[in-house]
Amino acid sequence: MSSSAQRIKIAVQKSGRLTDHSFDLLERCGLKLRKSKDHLFCYGENMPIDLLLVRDDDIPGLVSDDVCDLGIVGLNVVEEKRLARLAEGHETLFDKVYDLDFGHCRLSLAAPDDCEYRGLESLKDARIATSYVNFLRDYLTKNGISADIEYFSGAVEIAPKLGKADFICDLVSTGGTLAANGLREVEVLMHSEAVIVQTRAPLSDDKQDLVDRMLQRLDGVLQARGSKYVMLHAPRSALGEIHALLPGSEAPTVVPLDGAGDKVAVHAVCRENVFWETLENLKAAGASSLLVLPVEKMLA
Ligand code: ATP
Ligand code: ZN
Repeated sequence: MSSSAQRIKIAVQKSGRLTDHSFDLLERCGLKLRKSKDHLFCYGENMPIDLLLVRDDDIPGLVSDDVCDLGIVGLNVVEEKRLARLAEGHETLFDKVYDLDFGHCRLSLAAPDDCEYRGLESLKDARIATSYVNFLRDYLTKNGISADIEYFSGAVEIAPKLGKADFICDLVSTGGTLAANGLREVEVLMHSEAVIVQTRAPLSDDKQDLVDRMLQRLDGVLQARGSKYVMLHAPRSALGEIHALLPGSEAPTVVPLDGAGDKVAVHAVCRENVFWETLENLKAAGASSLLVLPVEKMLA
C-alpha cells in the first residue's frame, strides 16, 4: 500500500450544492471511496487518492497552500479568494484545469423592485451588501464607480429590507430567492460553474503521474457526457450530406452492409447533443435505422 506522502488529496465540499455532483464525477472516474466515521475524509480504496471534505470557502486556500493537490469548487469562490489574496499581496498558487459543467450560477447585482435602476450610475455612493467584497470592489473599480460595500456573511437578500443596503450582490441561479425578497437582477458580474483546480507546487514524479491520470479520466468523463454515439444506414452517395449533418463529429466509420448493394453503415461519435431535428434531417438525407446511444467513457 502507498504511504500517505504518495497519495494525492482532493478537496471537496463537505455538504452543499456541489457535494453530490463532485462525488458522482469522481466515482465516474473509477474511484471507489470509503468515508471516515467523522465524515471529514474519504479514503480511496482502489487508487491512492483521498478526499478532504471541507467548506467550499476553504478549498482554494487548501490547494494554493499545497495541503491538497486538487480541489473542486465554484469559480465564484475561486475568484473571490484569488482577489482577496491579491489584496493582501499574495499570489494564488493554483491553476484552473477544467470547467465541470455543474453548479451553474451567476454573481449578480440586484435592486429592490421599487427602485428605478438606470444602469451602473445608479450605484454611485450607494450601499451594496455582499459576501463577495473583493470581487465587487474589483468590478466597481474597473467601472469607475465609488460605492459603500457592506459585508454580509449570509442572508444577503434581506439587507435592503432591513435598511442596511440599497442593492445586493449575490449568487443567483433561478432568481426565485430574489423575487421572494422583492428584488430583481440588474447586472451580471460573472457566470460561474464548478471547476477543478490544481496546485502549482511541484509534485513527485509518482504523484504527478497520478494527477495526470486522474485529470485524463476526468477529461474522458466530461467529453463523454456531452457526446453521443450515432449509428445509421445510408446509401454511399449520401455520405457527404450525412457527415455534414452529424453535429461535432470527426471522421465517421463507414462499413459496407452485406448484400445491401450501395448501402453502408455509418458509426460516428458526435461531441454535441443530437436533437430530434438532426435525426429528421438525417432521415431526409437518406439515412435509415438511426440509433443514438449515450457514451460512458472516452480515452483519446
Ligand atoms: P459551505 O458550507 O461549504 O460554505 P455554502 O453555503 O457556502 O457552503 P452552497 O450554498 O452549498 O455553499 O453553494 C456552493 C456553490 O454552489 C456556490 O459557491 C456556487 O458555486 C454554487 N451555486 C450554484 N447555484 C447556486 C445558488 N443558487 N446559490 C448559491 N450557490 C450556488
Ligand atoms: Zn461557503
